[in-house]
Amino acid sequence: MSEIRTVAVLGAGTMGHGIAQVSAMIGCLVRLFDANNSATSAGIDKIRDNLDKGIARGKLTKDVRDRTLENITTTGSISEAVTGVDLVVEAAPEAIDLKESIFAEVESAVPDHAILATNTSSLSIAQISSSLRSPSRFVGMHFFNPVHIMALVEVVWGAQTSDATLEAAVQFARRLGKEPIVVRDAPGFASSRLGIALGMEAIRMVEQGVASPEDIDKAMELGYRHPMGPLKLTDLVGLDVRLKIAEYLHEALGSDAFTPPNLLRQMVAEGRLGKKSGEGFYSW
Ligand code: NAD
Repeated sequence: MSEIRTVAVLGAGTMGHGIAQVSAMIGCLVRLFDANNSATSAGIDKIRDNLDKGIARGKLTKDVRDRTLENITTTGSISEAVTGVDLVVEAAPEAIDLKESIFAEVESAVPDHAILATNTSSLSIAQISSSLRSPSRFVGMHFFNPVHIMALVEVVWGAQTSDATLEAAVQFARRLGKEPIVVRDAPGFASSRLGIALGMEAIRMVEQGVASPEDIDKAMELGYRHPMGPLKLTDLVGLDVRLKIAEYLHEALGSDAFTPPNLLRQMVAEGRLGKKSGEGFYSW
């Protein structure tokens, strides 16, 4: 297909506003829709905030901020958002039924040439697209938070995704200034599968008294140049969130690498959830 110029972003929350921002910054016309009106305006406020911070740090000009904001239009319905666009990126909550119903509505109004992408972090691409008339144009584009800063996009192909769709998603990620990696539709894709395996092993090492959380993190930070150790990262993401993903991956992949350690279950039960509760492997 020819170059992507218009993008609909569905969901204006943590991820959606960021995806709208980076798309508008490269000159795409963006239509932003959220089922909740106040989330749409909060999303626009966050984009303005991000851009203003960029100006304060000397990374952006006021002109770029103004043009980026001008490129974004908010819409009152999914059909209004997707009419005539080249790409749809869905960033609604992580629930399979919700995503399926959104894409059913998208398909009834979007042009035939458009690429349909989901930002799901864990759901199966094949399952989300299973009821679509043309699943060959469906692909995963898994951005990372905060979208305007994080360089990675996991481009996830399902059994029915066409080569042209995959290539269009890879090219679009590159135009956004991101580094795309191509991953088959498999539980945890590449990032969560590796990240959770490392995180669970680090927790098992704390449980077994191998080393302190600080020293385990330093082993990865200084020995392997990870910007942040696996336990600090677990505290930032939330122990409850990581426990859920580990349980899912353990069930889906059947590997002991993902068995949640008792220590993790115990800390979650006690409400020690990491940064958001003030206490995890570290005090915050
Ligand atoms: P969020 O809760 O911050 O935002 C979701 C938004 O979708 C909300 O504003 C909500 O009002 C809106 N919404 C609900 N129903 C809708 C509908 N029918 N149509 C349009 N909008 C609707 O969630 P988030 O953290 O931005 O996550 C969105 C997706 O991105 C999820 O699939 C999540 O797994 C994935 N993801 C999240 C992160 C992260 O760090 N938060 C990272 C990568 C991927």
